[in-house]
Amino acid sequence: MKRDIHLVVLLLSVIGFSLASLTLWKVMGSRERALEDVNIHGLNLTQALSTYSEGIVRQSTLLLLGLVERLETEGVGPAQIQRLSELVKRQQPLMPPMSGVTLYAKDGRWLMSSNRPIPAGANSSDRAYFVHHRDDPSREPFIGLPIRSRVTQEWVITISRRFNDEHGEFAGVVAVTLGVENFLQLFGKLDVGHDGAIGLSFTDGAMLVRYPFREQDMGRNFSNSPIFAKYLIAQPVGTASFTSSLDGVERLYAFRKSDKLPLVTTVALGKQEALAAWRLEALLSALVVAALLAVTGAIGWLLIRAMSRRNAVESELRLTQQQLLESNQKLERLAMHDALTGLANRRSFDEALAQEIRTAQRHATQLTLLMIDIDHFKRYNDSYGHPAGDACLQQIAHLLSGCIRRPRDLLARYGGEELAVILPDTDEEGAAVVARLMLERLALQAIPHQGSPLGHVTASIGIASTERAAPDTPAALLERADQALYMAKQAGRNRLQVVTPPGSVQLAR
Ligand code: GH3
Ligand code: MG
Ligand code: MG
Repeated sequence: MKRDIHLVVLLLSVIGFSLASLTLWKVMGSRERALEDVNIHGLNLTQALSTYSEGIVRQSTLLLLGLVERLETEGVGPAQIQRLSELVKRQQPLMPPMSGVTLYAKDGRWLMSSNRPIPAGANSSDRAYFVHHRDDPSREPFIGLPIRSRVTQEWVITISRRFNDEHGEFAGVVAVTLGVENFLQLFGKLDVGHDGAIGLSFTDGAMLVRYPFREQDMGRNFSNSPIFAKYLIAQPVGTASFTSSLDGVERLYAFRKSDKLPLVTTVALGKQEALAAWRLEALLSALVVAALLAVTGAIGWLLIRAMSRRNAVESELRLTQQQLLESNQKLERLAMHDALTGLANRRSFDEALAQEIRTAQRHATQLTLLMIDIDHFKRYNDSYGHPAGDACLQQIAHLLSGCIRRPRDLLARYGGEELAVILPDTDEEGAAVVARLMLERLALQAIPHQGSPLGHVTASIGIASTERAAPDTPAALLERADQALYMAKQAGRNRLQVVTPPGSVQLAR
């Protein structure tokens, strides 16, 4: 029963554990997938943005190539500059991110500005791109760090080329300016969440554009950030996850280095933000599982309670049954035994005698009966009182019990102060040995009896046996034993008397 409850507890624990671990497994799996999705999304975005940036740079480079070609072949006379200005004006609408083209003479003076009149005394000889082209004979385009336009105060990125005079000497610079605002508008259309960011940098970590826009990040060098310090060194494209040292927010980064240009695009998404949908799903799963577990637990509890109640009822029942059995045994004992002496009573004596006579006949064995009667017991009562007589009877019963050895021998209280002994498989001689032992024990015990001629309690014993071959009845046997007893009394008491069936009387003492 206890085992059943343990099994139920085990079953419930297994169910609970499986449910919880399955859910945990599922939830952790979906977290992995959510992060993977974010990474794929980030990589796709970097691909698109990288292509976009490359396109703009390529277009600008192409434009610059044409302009330099013209400048070098046609020179920088006012008519040529006018024609160039017209050409640029026609091209400008085809290239929306471009905010203008500016032409600088070899001393930094502005020769032409496509979108506004040249400010008086404008000179850009101190600008990084100008210094670069002046000092570096390379004809490759140069992408400069973002600068704030001196005219419009807007943040711009310049892509510039040098042009030479007919002697191959430095003649000036032509630069395309790209408004950072154009990039920010595009980046702003992409949903990167509250904690997200999109960046376009040089491979050395210098920031060209960052969305959301922060003034202090323009041109700032991020070469110490793990993207540049660690991840980009290992691979040109990839994802990473780390906590920003600037704001302490953990982000998922996707980065991509351009194949052709020294540019890196990064897309960052706040990890907590990216996992928000997953967290909601996990919470819902946890709630559902918790509810299921609670219901399972409640059912289990009810089941266990019902089982323990049944157990209690059953053990109560068992106890009652046990008590009943014990009372029955007690009753049976009472029904079969004499209350005063504890010997078998008349009823069980009668049953045993009938049974043993049948057995004796079946096996053709001899059965002998002893009838014992205490001598002058009336006088004993008279002398010592009835309670003393009872005690004397108990003492005699105990004494005579000690004279019986075999398990099937039965000493019974036949009635009053008369006792009887059934001795199965015993002939008269064997029975006489037992009877003699009884008389000797009594003599030895010498229970004082002032009414007896010998001064102590004695008894007379009548002995009768069944015939080996002939059928016999309990009544007949009892009668013969009684007769023998009567004869023993007549002969003077304190003796035994054997009666053999045809009536042959044999006096043994
Ligand atoms: P005897 O047998 O020697 O002829 O004389 P007796 O005095 O024993 O005579 P009998 O056997 O007829 O007497 C039986 C007496 O035993 C009667 C009664 O006073 C006494 N007796 C019988 N049963 C009990 C008993 O349970 N307790 C007591 N104290 N006495 C009993
Ligand atoms: Mg008697
Ligand atoms: Mg008597």
